[in-house]
Amino acid sequence: MSELPRQDLPLLGADPTRTYRLGIMGGTFDPIHNGHLVTAEQARCALDLDVVLFMPAGNPAFKQDRSVTNPEDRYSMTLLATSDNPLFLASRYEVDREGVTYTVDTLQRLRDTYPKNVEIYFITGADAIVDIITWRDAARLATLAKLVGATRPGYDLDRARSVLAGSDIAFDVRYLEVPALAISSSYLRERVRQGQSLRYLTPDSVIGYINKHHLYPSVQGEARP
Ligand code: NAP
Repeated sequence: MSELPRQDLPLLGADPTRTYRLGIMGGTFDPIHNGHLVTAEQARCALDLDVVLFMPAGNPAFKQDRSVTNPEDRYSMTLLATSDNPLFLASRYEVDREGVTYTVDTLQRLRDTYPKNVEIYFITGADAIVDIITWRDAARLATLAKLVGATRPGYDLDRARSVLAGSDIAFDVRYLEVPALAISSSYLRERVRQGQSLRYLTPDSVIGYINKHHLYPSVQGEARP
């Protein structure tokens, strides 16, 4: 069982007279890209987060039907992409956990780890947030964290709002429009398969990792960027 990075965040919650804000950036990150990094930075600034912990999903509950790059590679790319920002950290927690990954388990563990003066904000794509009512133990999840749904330009926010408003569960959710989310992981994977450049779409360190480990191979094995 992997531990949460208590040792990396020793001061989180230490001063009982103030409130701390911990952002959890949840995603498959297959691969991580600049849209994710900009989202985390926009959320950090907008919500005054003390730190953002990137949490690559281990064995995603909802992706049992498609092949996802192995967790170790997705974690390594996340670590590389976040390494130059002292307010961004990458967690192995879900990657090391056995079995299927459920967000409610991760958030419960975080809630049990940090004192009550640490507020938890779970940040992810708005499409994922719309589905949240179908997630395991959604009612308990709503008590553990506030939610931040990152939207791409042109996203239909009214639909998202009406889906959650129709639920009995009182989710505390806010939305953040992130123009950089015009970039998506599937777009990057497709570009690699077609031998096209990823430069400026994700950090160079991630591009180097993808090339070195031959991730997202093309069917005919085209040249890599
Ligand atoms: P997804 O369904 O693949 O993604 C939905 C959309 O959100 C995609 O457009 C995706 O773009 C975007 N997105 C995903 N993570 C993002 C982030 N952190 N910031 C901005 N945009 C993001 O979702 P997913 O990545 O597999 O899962 C998202 C999170 O929800 C994960 O932490 C996962 O564990 C959790 N989840 C939990 C359950 C459950 O507990 N039952 C079920 C579903 C999801 P990209 O492809 O470019 O990232």
